[in-house]
Amino acid sequence: MDLIRLKNVEKRYKNGVTAIYDLNLSIEKGSFVFVVGGSGSGKSTLIKMLYREEKPTQGQVIVGGLDVAKLKNKKVYKLRRKLGIVFQDYRLLPKLTVYENVAFALECLGEKKNDIRMKVLKALEDVGLKNKIHSYPDQLSGGEQQRVAIARAIVNDPKLLLCDEPTGNLDPVKSMEIMQVLEDINKNRGTTIIMATHDKEIVNKMKKQVITLKDGHLVTNKKKGRYEDEAI
Ligand code: ADP
Repeated sequence: MDLIRLKNVEKRYKNGVTAIYDLNLSIEKGSFVFVVGGSGSGKSTLIKMLYREEKPTQGQVIVGGLDVAKLKNKKVYKLRRKLGIVFQDYRLLPKLTVYENVAFALECLGEKKNDIRMKVLKALEDVGLKNKIHSYPDQLSGGEQQRVAIARAIVNDPKLLLCDEPTGNLDPVKSMEIMQVLEDINKNRGTTIIMATHDKEIVNKMKKQVITLKDGHLVTNKKKGRYEDEAI
């Protein structure tokens, strides 16, 4: 079963730059997919279209059965509930503890305190940070902060986890720790993961599906891929 389907998708920004050309793509439920390509190749634009930060100028983007571009603004929450997002720069709330950062979205949804506690502790356990629940973001290393951001993204057990350069600010050792966490989430929770990156070493180590973009065009899509030369 496909979780995501893109049909003839084009994205042209208002300044006239075309970031994505005629993209056709299906992503199966439960897969782990890298989106690779040089700077400006369209990786972020593709990710942004999946969570309706940007709309395609042509074509169709289907995520979990929802036609993303056609969603009314007041229905975007239906899409956002199906997915979690992790960015390069963590984006934690500095005045909240680790626990509070992860619990925040669930509190906004009005969930019961006990349910929140169970979900937050499970998410923090999955990222290996259960011992730091009372710490504040500035008391954590970059790798730990990113693990909190991942816990926050998976706390509601979304079908889809989008990661835009999640290891971009981390050294190779911390980056591999993050990849281990993501691989476990994919295996144990069955979460579909799409990760934009230009980290060649990670992509070649993980042996996952690799989609390569170049200047807005899809150039390869391989099940057990490597970092292609076109992506540099
Ligand atoms: P990548 O993530 O691979 O670095 P992006 O998707 O960020 O690539 O960018 C693809 C192209 O679209 C680039 O030429 C970039 O300058 C352009 N672009 C990205 N965002 C915008 C925007 N908001 N407005 C105009 N052009 C943009």
